[in-house]
Amino acid sequence: MAILEILTYPEPRLRAQAEPVDRFDRPELQQRVDDLLQTMAALPACVGVAAPQVGYPYRLLVIQCQNSRKPPLEHPGLLVVGNPEILSWSGTEVGREGCLSLPDYTGNVLRAQTIQVAFQDRDGQPRQLTLQGFAARVMQHEIDHLNGTLFTDRIVSRKTDLFPRKQRQ
Ligand SMILES: [Zn+2]
Repeated sequence: MAILEILTYPEPRLRAQAEPVDRFDRPELQQRVDDLLQTMAALPACVGVAAPQVGYPYRLLVIQCQNSRKPPLEHPGLLVVGNPEILSWSGTEVGREGCLSLPDYTGNVLRAQTIQVAFQDRDGQPRQLTLQGFAARVMQHEIDHLNGTLFTDRIVSRKTDLFPRKQRQ
């Protein structure tokens, strides 16, 4: 396993459409899943990493919602998510988001409050989940990465909704 470097804006690979995962039984894919999990675990307060953020151009992401200081109503725990599709959504909510690929900013982003998502787990088995609140937000943020979208694309006003992070030591 390896802790991978997170690509940061304006790296062009963050803007690409990711390819579907065709087979889950390839050793290379399983290795990448392990690397994503280890990378997420190594980063403080990290709740999700999408494969394109580490230069792996496939529709694959990992989520770990218990790590958040703002726990979701029902947290899904640790998820390996391949080929996700949002089947339905309801409600909207504005919340603060950050991104490892945009380390200098946070922003207020409008997201669906509840989503139903279909995906394949790391064995390629189909799954469906209903996510709410923070967990739904994390999933939508990470799925955006698979389509080359960053949270700053969804901000209405850079003047009022984008915030520089405090200087780190
Ligand atoms: Zn992100």
